[in-house]
Amino acid sequence: MAVSRTFSIIKPDATRRNLTGKVNAVIEDAGLRIVAQKRVRLSEAQAKTFYEVHKDRPFYGELVSQMTAEPVVVQVLEGENAVVRYREVMGSTNPKDAAEGTIRKLFALSIGENSVHGSDSPENATIEIAQFFSDGDIVG
Ligand code: GDP
Repeated sequence: MAVSRTFSIIKPDATRRNLTGKVNAVIEDAGLRIVAQKRVRLSEAQAKTFYEVHKDRPFYGELVSQMTAEPVVVQVLEGENAVVRYREVMGSTNPKDAAEGTIRKLFALSIGENSVHGSDSPENATIEIAQFFSDGDIVG
């Protein structure tokens, strides 16, 4: 299987509880390598663009306000089949449905405050990585 990359966000509910290191430990224990990382505060415009696909959903306003409430940690992860692997490591969107040992089972508070984002396809991973990192920022 080829090595590839995915985009990750450690969300405000997790940074607020000082869980960045614990989330990163789960990521690394799963065999994914953190090849770029920075802590940023998303602007409302950035959050709206990032989640534009959900703009007609009832939770869109809440999602944007949660994502901008406090800092996030944006990351590029690298590994075999990285998009699919990280989705497994994250667990289901709703932590009630998430498998044991997944980040969302371990740390998420609710379906909205679910601790992490991960790209849902290699195409979206490329788009999302480019929103936050230039090639020189990523050291594999
Ligand atoms: P993901 O790919 O597993 O993150 O899930 P989605 O792409 O479907 O949703 C994006 C994000 O929107 C989720 O991670 C949640 O933070 C939020 N979200 C999704 N569904 C709901 C919902 O029913 N209620 C609320 N409050 N937030 C939701």
